Amino acid sequence: MAKTEEKNTMMLEVVTPYQHFYEGRVDSVTLSTLDGELGICPGHSPLVVALTPGISRIVENSKTKYAVMTEGYAEIGQHIVVVVCNAAEWPEDIDVARARAAFDRASKRYHDAKTESDAQVYARHSIRRARVRIKAVEMYGTDKQKEHFNKTE
Ligand code: ATP
Repeated sequence: MAKTEEKNTMMLEVVTPYQHFYEGRVDSVTLSTLDGELGICPGHSPLVVALTPGISRIVENSKTKYAVMTEGYAEIGQHIVVVVCNAAEWPEDIDVARARAAFDRASKRYHDAKTESDAQVYARHSIRRARVRIKAVEMYGTDKQKEHFNKTE
C-alpha cells in the first residue's frame, strides 16, 4: 500500500462475541457513544469511549457503509480503532420480523414491571436495540426488507 494512502487511513476492527465483524483500513468512522455521536479520523487523540446502540458510519475508500453496533466500547488510537460490542449487523442482514418481535416483547416486559427495576432497565435496552435495527432497515435496508413494513402496517 502507498505511504500516503496509509497516512490518510486508519485500521478499524469490530469484534463481537459472535464474530469478527469488520477489519480493514478506513478514512473515518462515526460511532454512537453515551455522550453522542463521535467522528474519528486518523490521528485522533487516544481515548476509550462507551458505546450505546446506534448506526455507525464507516467511510472506506470515500464510500460510506452503515452498520448497527450495540452496547460496548471503543479503544481509539492514532492509527487504529478497536470496537468491542455485543452485536453488529449490516442493515441488509437484519431480520425485521425478529426486531419487531423483540420490540413487542420488551415493551410488554417494560409495562408489566411495576416499578423501576432491573427488568425494566433490561427491557429498555432491548427496546433501544430493536428500534435501532428497525431504523437501520428503514434508512439503509433493501427494498425487499422494506416491503415487510408495507405488508404489516
Ligand atoms: P433478540 O431478542 O431478537 O435476540 P437481542 O437484542 O436480544 O434480540 P442481541 O443480544 O443484541 O439480540 O444479539 C444476539 C445475536 O443476534 C447477535 O449476533 C445479533 O447480531 C443477532 N441479532 C439480534 N437481532 C437481530 C435481528 N433482528 N436481525 C439479525 N440479527 C440479529
